[in-house]
Amino acid sequence: MENAQNLLKKYFGYESFRPGQDQIISHILDGEDCLGIMPTGAGKSVCYQIPAMLLPGVTIVISPLISLMKDQVDGLNEIGIPATYINSTLTDSEYSQTIENILYNVYKIIYVAPERLNSDTFINLLNRLDVSMITIDEAHCVSQWGHDFRPSYREIANVILNLKKRPIVSAFTATATQIVKDDIINLLHLSNPFTLTTGFDRKNLNFCVEIPESKKDFIIDFIEKNSKDSGIIYCLTRKTVDNLYEGLLNLGYNVSKYHGGMSENARTKSQEDFTYDRTQIMVATNAFGMGIDKSNIRYVIHYNMPKDLESYYQEAGRAGRDGDNSKCILLFSRADIVTNKFLIEQTTSDSNHKIEYDKLNDIIDYCNTDKCLRKYILEYFDETPTFDDCNNCSNCLSEIETTDITLDSKKILSCIKRMNERFGSGLVTDVLKGSKSAKIKSFGFDNLSTYGIMSEYTKDTIKDLIYFLITEGYIKCVGDKYPILVLDNSANDILFKDKQVLIKRKIEKIIPKNVATNSKEELDYDNNLFEILRSLRKEIAEINGIPPFIVFTDVSLKEMSTYFPTNVENMLEISGVGVNKLEKYGNIFIETINKYVVENNIEVQGRKVKNSKDSLVSDSISDDTESKNAPAKVKEDTRVVSYNLYKDGNSIDEISKVRGLKRQTIEGHLVKCYELGMDVDLEKDIHVEFEGIIFDAIDNLGFDKLRPLKDFLPSDVSYLDINYFVVKYKKNRLL
Ligand code: ADP
Repeated sequence: MENAQNLLKKYFGYESFRPGQDQIISHILDGEDCLGIMPTGAGKSVCYQIPAMLLPGVTIVISPLISLMKDQVDGLNEIGIPATYINSTLTDSEYSQTIENILYNVYKIIYVAPERLNSDTFINLLNRLDVSMITIDEAHCVSQWGHDFRPSYREIANVILNLKKRPIVSAFTATATQIVKDDIINLLHLSNPFTLTTGFDRKNLNFCVEIPESKKDFIIDFIEKNSKDSGIIYCLTRKTVDNLYEGLLNLGYNVSKYHGGMSENARTKSQEDFTYDRTQIMVATNAFGMGIDKSNIRYVIHYNMPKDLESYYQEAGRAGRDGDNSKCILLFSRADIVTNKFLIEQTTSDSNHKIEYDKLNDIIDYCNTDKCLRKYILEYFDETPTFDDCNNCSNCLSEIETTDITLDSKKILSCIKRMNERFGSGLVTDVLKGSKSAKIKSFGFDNLSTYGIMSEYTKDTIKDLIYFLITEGYIKCVGDKYPILVLDNSANDILFKDKQVLIKRKIEKIIPKNVATNSKEELDYDNNLFEILRSLRKEIAEINGIPPFIVFTDVSLKEMSTYFPTNVENMLEISGVGVNKLEKYGNIFIETINKYVVENNIEVQGRKVKNSKDSLVSDSISDDTESKNAPAKVKEDTRVVSYNLYKDGNSIDEISKVRGLKRQTIEGHLVKCYELGMDVDLEKDIHVEFEGIIFDAIDNLGFDKLRPLKDFLPSDVSYLDINYFVVKYKKNRLL
């Protein structure tokens, strides 16, 4: 396991395993089959990618999502893990090249689409390889009880049987119902698998239910405040998607849309624009689903209440896969209940209605409960949370205010009565609001005593009150296509017997700082630097043709904007920075951070990890103002003055003269800048030919003894040479 831990740091740049990861990895390494049931974002991939690197042969990953394979493979190649994929998107020549490479054992991980498994050629290929493990991603696809049944997943067991040597089989899913779990074990023929189910709680997600007066205004207000963040807005119907999309586009927002009514090309383009951060907002129906691997989705808003909590948790769970705090907001209106009932009637056979309605009632309760939302969800999924309040959902963070709406209810009910119970909620609302439309005039409704009696409210509020009375059973909605409002007998209790009607609303509650919350701690990061790094990330991603979150996650950028890593060593301490990423992007990020730190006179306090090793060159080149442990203390840094003069083409001697400082001091400045990853090329001032003997000397004697060592090296080795090569040696070692 020590090796696994090292690989986690080296490739992925993470300090420690997430819950469950280490157990699964160690069972796989012991040669056991495994089934990992972990929620989205829990980190299932690491559970098979690390063993894949440690097992002798190759690992085949069966994944249902062709659209994701390229990103997954790009992501692995970025961190230095040799991987490839085989699916129908490869051209003939790409395919042949890939097969050739596979036979040369170039890769440790090969992603394949399940459809491949039907072909003998593929089985023959597998039999020519040393397959250590077969991993089945999204393993619930094997079960017809899961939501994404894929018949070709049924072939997997057969393929494994036909292999010369049975590999380890590991399967992963986020779906945990018992029936699906049993199907996975039976249909994939897992052999006595180690099964691990981690909790469903996602601490970094903040759940909210809002009942805004105007959903559109709520959205605009929200995206205005979070304009740089990526987020998805889910709507129940294509029409709502189109309307909201147009509305936001007209207001100048950077927005994409996605639904089943669009052409495949248009959908692909939308998804790509969103993945590559070209657009920030995705307005979509639930057709925008499984193929989303984007880790930096900071919010998921449901414009309408979905049909059940399973769909809700799955869709909302697409936020915050990178582990960073993210919001999941459900905008509830009572009209959504009606739409969902309508959809149930339209789409399912009668026999299923009861189940569908029960599930709908559960999500309606979720929207109306005043208890902890997180607890509600976890209990719904049969977990037993250990807390009563998470202090990180809209219910825990608000207080319930009860309002008496008896008078408003009377106005609405009598208006429906006066309109002879023959019209829908739209027209009733218009009459109460006092709309001047021709339709109202033509019916003579402007003469009713209820005309305009609720003109002080918005139409959305009036509608919401009407739907409240529907859900409470005082009003019935009759008819399918154009439902009309009819009074229930119980309405008479309000109209004539003064029955009181109460509605509960939430108001924000201030939680004292010392109260424990079930949330991930928020970093106090420098937002300006974060924005600079975010656009740098985007630029790099565009150049390399990969999505920005593959370059670095939001979490990595936020850590950089908190700890200001200004040298290679500190950069490696940032979560998500492994050696490969450091090699590829380390310098440019370090340089950018350095520049920011200098320009803003930021005093860099210390390292993220306190007990890391001392700066290796500090002994030999430190100037007096610098303490041994501090990284770049760049405030009014004398080194930067020397650096700028050097970059302007002045020689070390000239700088020394101009600045009135010893040559050795200037050398120290420049080597330090080199160490910090700034763009300084000292090769013309050093003796390149001494690299070998200095490296040998370091190998034999370590860094500490270098200064006395000068006496033992040839006399023309300068201090500059020694200091420079110490840094170079150190950088090589870290890479
Ligand atoms: P899942 O497949 O379970 O939805 P992923 O494998 O995509 O989740 O992982 C979600 C995110 O969490 C990725 O950005 C991944 O790199 C990150 N991650 C995984 N393991 C760790 C870890 N031990 N420490 C920090 N981040 C991790």
